[in-house]
Amino acid sequence: MIDYLIVGAGLAGCVLAEQLAQQKGKTVLIVDKRDHIGGNCYDYYDHSGILVHKYGPHYFRTNNKIVLDYLSQFTKWHHHQYRILASVDGQLVPFPINLDTINSLYGLNLSSFELNDFFKKIRKPVKKIKSSKDVVLSQVGQELYEKFFEGYTKKQWNIDPSELEASVCGRIPIRSNNDARYFNDKYQVMPKHGYTRMFLKLISHHKIHLLLKTDFKAVKDLIPCKHLVYTGPIDEFFNYKFGHLPYRSLEFEFETKNQEWFQPVSQINYPNDYDFTRTVEIKHATGQVHDKTTIVREYPVDKGEPFYPVPREQNQKLYEKYNTEAKKLKKVSFLGRLAQYKYLNMDEVVYRALKLFNTRFK
Ligand code: FAD
Ligand code: UDP
Repeated sequence: MIDYLIVGAGLAGCVLAEQLAQQKGKTVLIVDKRDHIGGNCYDYYDHSGILVHKYGPHYFRTNNKIVLDYLSQFTKWHHHQYRILASVDGQLVPFPINLDTINSLYGLNLSSFELNDFFKKIRKPVKKIKSSKDVVLSQVGQELYEKFFEGYTKKQWNIDPSELEASVCGRIPIRSNNDARYFNDKYQVMPKHGYTRMFLKLISHHKIHLLLKTDFKAVKDLIPCKHLVYTGPIDEFFNYKFGHLPYRSLEFEFETKNQEWFQPVSQINYPNDYDFTRTVEIKHATGQVHDKTTIVREYPVDKGEPFYPVPREQNQKLYEKYNTEAKKLKKVSFLGRLAQYKYLNMDEVVYRALKLFNTRFK
């Protein structure tokens, strides 16, 4: 009998497997229904030899040195501060909104100091910030909300920003200086040889076994184990007995171009034009040198792989019902973006996996 059965070879499952095997000498079996490891972080070399991200751009960033040091055992890093432009009113301007964004958009020449006054004049007072709409209006007012956030958010989530938790748009900074980085995090890096190589090292332990193309539902009664770690969708685990939790999915349109570069930065957002939200040329972030390039257009859709838990109050309430059931199961742990139904970044998932190991299994 194996000690631990782990469902999902994504970041949550693989980090926990590594800790259990390396620190405790436990025998672990990871099953994943996909034909590869890495979960949504999976990357591969396409037919032209360009390293691409199969499930959308994954920019690793963190302020958490514990997480960075942990992953550094399995990869070297390529340092890259991610930049994004937004296509608004026919212009490409820096996003998140900063001093250059406002000056280019309105043909102004404001200083940082003057921009703070500008924001003060246009922002809408909101008594209690509850939604993503509130959080943007309270910082930059109606017009910039409409230009940069409203259309993108409706495309991405298929609901009005007033119905989405504040944290969704609240994670995008608004800046009055020229800082054009997408994120403020201290460490912004990409695994030097890609995520998949990092995952291979992570689980290359003789006590970790892997079964791909294997759905947990098909094998759950066939593989006895002392403890189960589940990183798939929590509603699926409980056979949807309280109803389906909503997830948002994406369709990806890949295109290889016979030219070295397609766009000036790794990501261009289209809040108001087209049905896709963004075009990604990940070569900017991976640092790969190649005379061709591959771009990806992302189309948000309702049906498909469950990529994004939808952060809104009614969904959280439904999740809590499942979580109450989950807590009753002493021999099962739920971990990760799908099992905890939370819009978590990679560093948060790694941290949660390390914490679960230290508190429950050490
Ligand atoms: P997953 O990676 O989803 O892994 C879960 C695994 O479980 C999957 O491989 C799945 O096949 C498997 N599974 C599910 N059900 C079953 C079953 N019944 N049987 C067998 N296997 C099953 N984070 C960042 O920090 N920076 C970014 O730039 C970033 N960009 C993102 C872009 C997109 C488009 C998306 C969707 C996410 C992004 N993330 C980003 C978040 C990041 O992908 C997650 O934090 C991370 O991958 C979560 O890891 P996980 O192991 O919890 O889940
Ligand atoms: N967002 C937006 N306009 C943009 C970019 C983002 O309105 O140009 C909003 C949108 O609701 C999105 C959220 O901010 O879902 C978080 O953006 P992020 O780029 O972090 O999304 P992710 O990479 O996780 O899809």
